[in-house]
Amino acid sequence: MIDHRSDVRQGRLTLWASAFVVVACLAIVAISGWREWSSRQTVLKGSETDMANLARSVTQHADDTFELADTVLNVLVGQLELEGTSPAAIAKIQTFLSRRKAANRIRAVFVYDETGRWLATSEPVDFAGLNNSDREYFQHHRAVADRGTFIGSPVRSRSGGQWIIAASRRFNHPDGSFAGVALTTIDVDYFLQFYRGFDVGQSGSIALATANGIILARSPDNGYTGRDLSGAPLFRIIRERPAADVYYFTSPLDGVRRLSFYQLSSRYPVLLVATESEDDVLAPWRRAALTRIAAVLALTAGLGVAGLFLVRQLHLRQKMAAALVAKEADFRLLAEQSGDMVMRVAVDGRILYASPSTARILGWAPNQLVDTSALAGINPADLARVEQTLSALMNGEAEEARITYRTRHREKEEIWVETALRVTRSAQSGHINGVVAISRDMTERKDLEDRLAALARSDGLTALANRRHFDERLEAEWDRARREGTPLSLLLMDVDHFKSFNDRYGHQAGDSCLRSIAGVLAQQARRPADVAARYGGEEFALLLPNTDAGGCEQVGERIRQAIEDLGILHALNASSRQVTLSIGGATHNSFGDKADCSSLIAAADKALYAAKEGGRNRLVMSGQVVAWPGSIRA
Ligand code: GH3
Ligand code: MG
Ligand code: MG
Repeated sequence: MIDHRSDVRQGRLTLWASAFVVVACLAIVAISGWREWSSRQTVLKGSETDMANLARSVTQHADDTFELADTVLNVLVGQLELEGTSPAAIAKIQTFLSRRKAANRIRAVFVYDETGRWLATSEPVDFAGLNNSDREYFQHHRAVADRGTFIGSPVRSRSGGQWIIAASRRFNHPDGSFAGVALTTIDVDYFLQFYRGFDVGQSGSIALATANGIILARSPDNGYTGRDLSGAPLFRIIRERPAADVYYFTSPLDGVRRLSFYQLSSRYPVLLVATESEDDVLAPWRRAALTRIAAVLALTAGLGVAGLFLVRQLHLRQKMAAALVAKEADFRLLAEQSGDMVMRVAVDGRILYASPSTARILGWAPNQLVDTSALAGINPADLARVEQTLSALMNGEAEEARITYRTRHREKEEIWVETALRVTRSAQSGHINGVVAISRDMTERKDLEDRLAALARSDGLTALANRRHFDERLEAEWDRARREGTPLSLLLMDVDHFKSFNDRYGHQAGDSCLRSIAGVLAQQARRPADVAARYGGEEFALLLPNTDAGGCEQVGERIRQAIEDLGILHALNASSRQVTLSIGGATHNSFGDKADCSSLIAAADKALYAAKEGGRNRLVMSGQVVAWPGSIRA
């Protein structure tokens, strides 16, 4: 349950970290996007201000121009109404107009009577018979009593052929009825020339239109003069809008999206629109913004990738730590359930952990062992071996090892333990950081082994050393005596007339007799190095290391006597009527020759033979054997 909860917590941490990375990246992108958007708005705002200023000054220019035309018309209308249209009055006006030089702004001046016939003009043309009653302005003035200035749609000049804008006024008879029209014309080109002086970019434009949507002049021109735009959205809603404002639209003329500022003249029914293409305005910003956004995106992507990589590392580490905890828990579970003693030992030999079984096996509670040396209590005879094994493992010479040694139990005597050792490594660095030792109490097995070994060495009937063990010991003692230059003696013994003892008293009695004789031998073999053995059926041997011929003879005689003293009845042993032994002794004390141990046996055997020959129940030393061919010197 606890593990499950911590899993959930760790999962959440990774999730939070990932979410943080994602949100941080999104925030960076959003903030820089917002910054770019506001810098775009600033660029547009700047352009709007430029367009507003431009529209205002161009409107002012149009107003001034129309005002001048107005002034001329005022003077003319005053004169015509005062003096009438009599030929004399007209001649006077014609003279005045002819003298006037064609000016830049007011191109020409005309006067028409109530039928549209030309009365006078500043133009040097023959106007007899010309009639302008078909013109829009003429029909307007004839129909409408208003005496204000009328600005009509641009028309092609009848006199010059170029585009002109007409500003006209009506003049009346003294009775107030329609008397005719006075008109001034302004070249569209005059406005265009002025407008061309402004830089509005490649797709920008400056347009002067009547309030009804007829284009008077537009730069660049492109033949738009006279075009009726009354159906365009701006003109349809112009009455509901303020007199001057920013206006975004897609041009009906060229389909370009435009940022514009329009201004309605306060004095004349004209409208000025200054525009720039939104694309032109935004192009420098767009280029810089794209570069900046690309840089920010690349940076954010880098941050995102790095962040998510770190989150992944965090996740992996958490998983590793969790796995480690689980492994540690598994280790504890196994160690604590195990009947074997489990220890974790640091590189310096300190015990870091001991399992509960230590209490049973060593008599010490685990917490009493933690932080003590793992080598404490080990039998000094085994210590060097254990130390060497441990340091070989810590140095990385081997991954695992198995050793058997003796160590102290807290209360009981020394015990034998068998320990399996295995190195442990740090999860982070992979370096060896100690060993795990699993130990088992081997004392009982060791005892059993010892007993088995003893059994293998001893004779079943008499418990003396058996023939095989005797041969081994003889060879070993022979080598030692040769090395150390000490004498080595051997007694070979054979029960006298034992066949007839068996025959007379039975085999079991014979066995019992052999065991009694063996008891005597075991008793007489007094030194630890002495080896009493059953050599064959009723033959015995006693090996006496470091014993000279005299000593050997003494021991032999003691044995012979002790057997006699046993007093085992043997009716068929005619000489003594009890069980006796014949003994042959031999001593070897000169190792300069090339003899081996078999020569000692042969010598003792010959002496035994001599004892039998000499009447039994006696000891014959090898040196006393005379006149025996090939006899060996004692
Ligand atoms: P000698 O005095 O010449 O030695 O006469 P002997 O009868 O002892 O002659 P020998 O050594 O040939 O006979 C050995 C006999 O010892 C043969 C066998 O009956 C007896 N014997 C050998 N081993 C055992 C044994 O393990 N138990 C018993 N009961 N008798 C044994
Ligand atoms: Mg025999
Ligand atoms: Mg015998």
